[in-house]
Amino acid sequence: MIIVLKPGTTDREKEHILEKIKEAGLTPNILEGQERTVIAVIGDERALQKQPITALPGVEKALPILSPYKLVSREFKKENTVVDVNGVKVGGNKMVLMAGPCSVEKKDLLTSIAEDIKVAGAQILRGGAFKPRTSPYSFQGLGEEGLEYLSEARKKTGLPIITEIMDPRDMPMMMKHADIIQIGARNMQNFRLLAEVGAHNKPVMLKRGLSATIKEFLLSAEYIMSAGNAQVILCERGIRTFETQTRNTLDLSAIPVIKQLTHLPVIVDPSHAVGKTYLVAPMARAAVAAGADGLMIEVHSFPEEAYCDGDQALLPKDFKTLVAELRLIAKAVGREL
Ligand code: PEP
Ligand code: MN
Repeated sequence: MIIVLKPGTTDREKEHILEKIKEAGLTPNILEGQERTVIAVIGDERALQKQPITALPGVEKALPILSPYKLVSREFKKENTVVDVNGVKVGGNKMVLMAGPCSVEKKDLLTSIAEDIKVAGAQILRGGAFKPRTSPYSFQGLGEEGLEYLSEARKKTGLPIITEIMDPRDMPMMMKHADIIQIGARNMQNFRLLAEVGAHNKPVMLKRGLSATIKEFLLSAEYIMSAGNAQVILCERGIRTFETQTRNTLDLSAIPVIKQLTHLPVIVDPSHAVGKTYLVAPMARAAVAAGADGLMIEVHSFPEEAYCDGDQALLPKDFKTLVAELRLIAKAVGREL
């Protein structure tokens, strides 16, 4: 970190700043210019985050050199992280497809969708048992019963399951049923929930918040990793912009940006990004071309009867056609699918 002092800073103020730097275990190097004094701080400047150095009298500005996150950064770990989900590897050269209904509805329907997506080439089944609905009058999910249906679908198909947690108190249920715990966009900055999933040894997929910057997204991932869980998968699912034609705006450039900044796998969810069935395939194709490590796509056998997000669900047959197209694109960009 480079700290620039205000002109006219007193010796006493200077001493106080140097003391604070040393207290944080860092080494200050003072560069006295003709008009200004600059302090170059050597060491992990994140130690100064607890107490903002800019609040000290005499400091004009502080320019960080390191990123504010550590464990998630590429500087910290060069090789890509591969998260092993019951044998399905997320983040390797082979891309991963997660698919299934928005919410778990009926047991037989879920199993039938699971069988269809498996035949089409998906490796992980998705389905929400706890749904973060905008309206309290909308279907809220089946809760534990839904988790049991998911477990049964896994038993029948062998597909690992991903499902969303909304409340830290549900962690025991999640540990029993889920193979990947999903943190939804609306909970990306629910720090107590992040700490809870961070304290367990179960893969977590963190979805980007509706209005979160990439920096905020990565700092949320840092919460999980700093609590002890290194098995973190990131998911770009579209962000809020001024555009209203689509549900959100898929931030495709976030894929290469995040892959440069971190070693964590990046999954793209085109379904929640666009909100309309006809837009899912084009954005899925673009995500593969842009370097995503996998996709999460909503699939339902009867979208018009779905309890949630029927407008964006693909029919199993259309999902199958899409997977065939994605295989060609994956190959063209040096990936397997
Ligand atoms: C979901 O994947 O079920 C979901 C609710 O998505 P998001 O949190 O991205 O809105
Ligand atoms: Mn949904």
